[in-house]
Amino acid sequence: MDNSLSPHSPSPHPGKDIGGGLPVIRYWAEHTLAPEGPQVWQTLLHKSACLSCAWGTGGQKGGFTNEEGEKLQRCAKSVESIVAELQPPVEPHFFEQHTIAKLQQLSSMEADRLGRLSFPAILRAGSSHYERIGWDEAYDLIEEAFRQPPDRVASYSSGRSSNEAAYLLQLMMRSLGSNNLADCSDLCHRPSTEGLSTTFGSGTSTVSLESLKQADCVVLIGSNAPSNHPRLMNELIKLRDRGGTIIVLNPVREVGLVKFGSPSFPVKSLLPGSDIANLFLQPIPGSDLAVMVGIQKSLIDHNSIDDDFLKAHTEGWEAVVEQAQVTSWETIVETCGVSQADIETAATLIAQAERVVFAWAMGITHQANGVDGVCGIANTALLTGNVGKLGAGVMPIRGHSNVQGFGSMGVKNELKPALKKALEKLLGRSLDLEPGYHARSLIEAADVGKVDTLLCLGGNLYAANPDLTQAKRALSQINTVIYLATKPNLGHFHGLARQHTLILPVFNRFENPHKTTVESGNNFVRLNDEGKTHLKKADLVAEVNFIAELAYRLHGGSSVDWRRLQDTRYVRRLIAQTIHGYEKIGQIDETKEEFTIGDRIFTRPQFRTPSGKAQMQLTPLPKLTLPTPEDFGSSKKGIVLALITGRSYTQHNTVVYRAADKYRGMPHRHCILMNIEDVRVGGLSDRQQVTVQGEAGQLENIEIICGDVRRGAALMFYPEANVLMKAVADPKSHTPAYKRVPVLIFSQ
Ligand code: SF4
Repeated sequence: MDNSLSPHSPSPHPGKDIGGGLPVIRYWAEHTLAPEGPQVWQTLLHKSACLSCAWGTGGQKGGFTNEEGEKLQRCAKSVESIVAELQPPVEPHFFEQHTIAKLQQLSSMEADRLGRLSFPAILRAGSSHYERIGWDEAYDLIEEAFRQPPDRVASYSSGRSSNEAAYLLQLMMRSLGSNNLADCSDLCHRPSTEGLSTTFGSGTSTVSLESLKQADCVVLIGSNAPSNHPRLMNELIKLRDRGGTIIVLNPVREVGLVKFGSPSFPVKSLLPGSDIANLFLQPIPGSDLAVMVGIQKSLIDHNSIDDDFLKAHTEGWEAVVEQAQVTSWETIVETCGVSQADIETAATLIAQAERVVFAWAMGITHQANGVDGVCGIANTALLTGNVGKLGAGVMPIRGHSNVQGFGSMGVKNELKPALKKALEKLLGRSLDLEPGYHARSLIEAADVGKVDTLLCLGGNLYAANPDLTQAKRALSQINTVIYLATKPNLGHFHGLARQHTLILPVFNRFENPHKTTVESGNNFVRLNDEGKTHLKKADLVAEVNFIAELAYRLHGGSSVDWRRLQDTRYVRRLIAQTIHGYEKIGQIDETKEEFTIGDRIFTRPQFRTPSGKAQMQLTPLPKLTLPTPEDFGSSKKGIVLALITGRSYTQHNTVVYRAADKYRGMPHRHCILMNIEDVRVGGLSDRQQVTVQGEAGQLENIEIICGDVRRGAALMFYPEANVLMKAVADPKSHTPAYKRVPVLIFSQ
């Protein structure tokens, strides 16, 4: 098939013309041949899952092995995260020598480069410096802070930690009577969980890696996989090799989605690069649902929907078909900015394929209609009978290595009925708890003084939020904030509590003194061996030990033997008893058998809804408008665009490893990627320094870089650009619309 890519504006700063390729090898060599090389290799070979994305590389078959046992599946992103963890410790007197005001001037990258945290520290009210604190005093303070009414204590967590730590965290919070379990997934893939749960009764990918390998078409929506999930690219290359088709939807024409050079195929791919997208569509940010409805309409018009499948295995399909039929092409094209012809080409490619996987990332979920976007994708898959068989299905691509495991362990502000019943049995008490705070409502509650204590198990709640002014103010209303972390981040210096802010240093995944487990985005559980830290004289704690000790202090030995829970084998036995699909984890210490979680991969069209049928949802198209320059209260001329806040290449969540983004031709973090036509219409010029104003704040001295982004859209880097945006959230998932932020760009 021809590589018929949609036309795009030429860029004066084209960056690279191939993703991956030699720079990846150079990066590997830089770190693995450097003095720290032996340590990096030792860690790469350690039997534990990759720290970085949720593709699930590593584990018991060796650090380079994927879920299917294939070798050489470790990417440079993984090396980046390991190298950062192998840094020397933060100097013992560092905090005494640097005021908090000074630390607040650091960038995310500079904060990360301070080194590993190796002793507990506290910032007390009125003090200008963090100071070292002993563990006994720290525990006493934290115990006291948690002796508050359950609605006034909360936790926030990220996917860095293990299933065992996640399980204990939710068990401790629920034993306290609190559902205030905010999680980083509230800020990323919660719309996927909500949309998929409503449709299929299961909130995760319906596709295993084995199944993906049998697809003959992948529709990749709102994802920058070459940067964020590099080993997925191997699957896309192999799919093209076997004659399959790849359709990409992304307002930014990411170079690695056009051509990618994979080190796993040194001869045929690394240097020349492999073609990825057969068709590359660039919709308006936030409009992918309109493309989906257009595809549905075209499929219906051409009798390409699977009536037998719909009648036998779905409910609500008639309304979805009618919705697509009555939605005019004018509305669809006007909403998404993609031509009818291009949408129909996508529909034809899908109809021609036997087995289609629909995959997406945060371009879909970071929208004010994130759940509808996910349901629109699921509807398209179901209309063509592409769920419930090998080689087909719906696949959210998760960002952080164990973010999905946290959801499975019950870290959520609502307790699902089945888990509630199991935990009630375990704890011997009723858990009729009010819904708690998700990440956004936690910030809003804190902002009005409703939260006394916050425990952050990893993550960077401050920087991950929209409207950083509000986030900072909200966290400052909380009496005690406790951060468990391996390295400093901006949250430790800006997200300061009213009374006590504690930073507690923890072992990372390959250092823990006990075995732990994590869950990949494709529902595979990996077992991490115990390890050792390279830090000399480090005073670290294992997260499991910390939570179990805190819970013991708060609850004593009642219902659960909390101190025994410092033994992760015992935690795994409790997980096996209480978490559906995780039964095999009870024997994993003996068998070492990593496993696919039960009842999640649908190879038959029998879903986990009460009727066993998929529940198709109506998905009204969004009305996408932008304010005028006057709406910003500005007298400046300029141009209003829909800003996408995204990660650069060499960035993992809020952690920045390198400032420049060579792929997009963006030389530093203070750039805005714009279409050359928008630059012209705005009376601006390439490389000009401009002001970017959002509804919550503005950034000055931002350099325009003309690049391959569609007209009407622009891209800046998260988390720096978060300061611009108000927290406009999807009402169904409460996830903020980070990828459609109205901004005014004007000459300063
Ligand atoms: S693709 Fe993801 S899981 Fe695999 S090595 Fe790279 S960062 Fe790690």
